[in-house]
Order: sequence, then structure tokens, then C-alpha cells
Amino acid sequence: MSKPFRCRLGLHKWVRRANPEGAPYSQCERCGTDAGNTKVQWGAGGQGG
Ligand SMILES: [Zn+2]
Repeated sequence: MSKPFRCRLGLHKWVRRANPEGAPYSQCERCGTDAGNTKVQWGAGGQGG
């Protein structure tokens, strides 16, 4: 249980990254969760970070 508080609430801080293959994807900057099977809600909350 080392997830940041906001991440435990589902308020991840999504950032755009690129995998070694060069394909863009979204990942949480804080906990490292991939948005692969998670609904990313861009601009759904505050800019807490
Ligand atoms: Zn997170």
C-alpha cells in the first residue's frame, strides 16, 4: 500500500509517455499505473499535482 492518496481515490496524474516501440500511452506520474485498461478522464478534476 504505497499508492499516493489521490491515486487511491482514482485521481491519477496522467502523463503522456512513449513506450520503447514509440507508441504513445498514458501513465500515472505518481504511482506508475498504466492507463491501458483504465478510463482516463482528462481534465476531470483539479490540477492537484
Ligand atoms: Zn496514480
